[in-house]
Amino acid sequence: MLIERLVVGMLQCNCYLVASEDTKEGIVIDPGGDGPLILERAEEMGLSIKYIVNTHGHIDHIAANRPVREATGAQLAIHKDDAEWLISDQGDYARMLGVQSPGPAADVLLEEGDEIAFGSERLQVVHTPGHSLGGISLVGDGVVFCGDTLFADGVGRVDLPGGSWETLMDTIKTRLLSLPDDTTAYTGHGPPTTIGREKQFNSWFR
Ligand SMILES: [Zn+2]
Ligand SMILES: [Zn+2]
Repeated sequence: MLIERLVVGMLQCNCYLVASEDTKEGIVIDPGGDGPLILERAEEMGLSIKYIVNTHGHIDHIAANRPVREATGAQLAIHKDDAEWLISDQGDYARMLGVQSPGPAADVLLEEGDEIAFGSERLQVVHTPGHSLGGISLVGDGVVFCGDTLFADGVGRVDLPGGSWETLMDTIKTRLLSLPDDTTAYTGHGPPTTIGREKQFNSWFR
């Protein structure tokens, strides 16, 4: 599986280009800004983008949904409980980021257990609420893309609508830290980590 991390937008969101090595069919996870950069890199890598997947609906993860969707014809996918964010005006925050809000509505509504398939790759949709109601993680062989749920020595904030500290802690313990220790966690901001490292060193769980 090809995985490329791009740091995009004013809030330095991690956008991931993830693709099948053989067919070069792929997905964009969280196009949170810098649409032209994302499209340029996808073209350099020779990718055909099948889906745009938002790990959740916050503006810093969805800001470039429109240009990427328009340029690639990809289907836009998000968990059903966060779909409303896409078509809501995210207000001053969006304007501060210079983003046209609301953006396009979802083409695909995701649920726990769904599968995102591209080329010979499969990623499993795992519902990971707490940072937002409809937060998801995408789990593959040895990898998890976990959005703003878990960070290297950090966890997601819970002060935005739909956030809950209790839910977040439960989600992380039961859905993420239960993955094999050598699983690489590609987070919504900051460097990648592993599940084992977070179990050992994350100050919230030690
Ligand atoms: Zn967020
Ligand atoms: Zn974020």
